[in-house]
Amino acid sequence: MLGRMNSARLDTGHPSKTRDSSARAVEGVHRGAPLHWVGNGFHVSTYLPSSSLPFERVSPFVLMDYGGPREFPPLARGKRGVGWHPHRGFETVTLAWEGSVSHRDNAGNAGVIGPGDVQRMTAGAGIFHEEYHEEEFTRRGGRMHMMQLWVNLPKRYKAAPPAYQSITAAQIPNAAIEGGTVSLVAGEYQGVIGPAHTFTPMTMLDARLSKGAYFAVPLAAHHNALAIITSGRVAAGGFSAGGGDLVLFENGGARLELTATEDAHVLVLAGEPIDEPVVQYGPFVMNTDDEIEKAIVDVELGRFGPIPP
Ligand code: MN
Repeated sequence: MLGRMNSARLDTGHPSKTRDSSARAVEGVHRGAPLHWVGNGFHVSTYLPSSSLPFERVSPFVLMDYGGPREFPPLARGKRGVGWHPHRGFETVTLAWEGSVSHRDNAGNAGVIGPGDVQRMTAGAGIFHEEYHEEEFTRRGGRMHMMQLWVNLPKRYKAAPPAYQSITAAQIPNAAIEGGTVSLVAGEYQGVIGPAHTFTPMTMLDARLSKGAYFAVPLAAHHNALAIITSGRVAAGGFSAGGGDLVLFENGGARLELTATEDAHVLVLAGEPIDEPVVQYGPFVMNTDDEIEKAIVDVELGRFGPIPP
């Protein structure tokens, strides 16, 4: 995605409080912002950044654009999506549950993200990319259901060379729990390791739960953790959360836990916070205002490389 052109200065906050009890309490249940279009192809709700979710509580996740299930009619000609735009200082992680997203960048990588696939792109030092509905999907029409995350990079990796990791649904291992299946995108769960490379420790689990299933995820106490409920309903820490809700868990405790009170689809995101200032401006995520200005100048000077024809 593009990133909205709002400028946000996010100051380092206080260390999170920690608890000793074994299950994490819930800090709050949040909704995303009203839907907006990214280009003409992605109708998304921005959950992060959010004024109600301090950046240090959701670090290393900087941005979350969630496109709930939406029908697109067949399109005889033209394409839907967003054209060439730059990024620097972070990684994008794109998940498609329905529909098909076509991606291309100026580091020479291209791919299609279909149902169940995950794509990770390291913008790092600087990249241009384009994101469109895949051509055949565009012509045929159909339902799109996707999410894009921006995962921050710590200062020492912000200038990492651009990279790309295409992870197909078949490459994502599953762990079985009673009443559910857990797909391991990143991190470890019940001895199963997710294939996504990450620069800092994190966990990304995609869980399908039947009504009544109890889902517990052991996590390092200092890792931030949240769950997005895309469908169904869960109970967590005395709260009830349904489709479109983001549950933020307190830090501390040995595990995150929730129970499906209806058949539910839940994405759990957790990770080690990056304890550095964050300045996001449009498509750049850096540590200082000066670095944002440099990114803008570097784009103008062609230092992100040429844009393919
Ligand atoms: Mn983008």
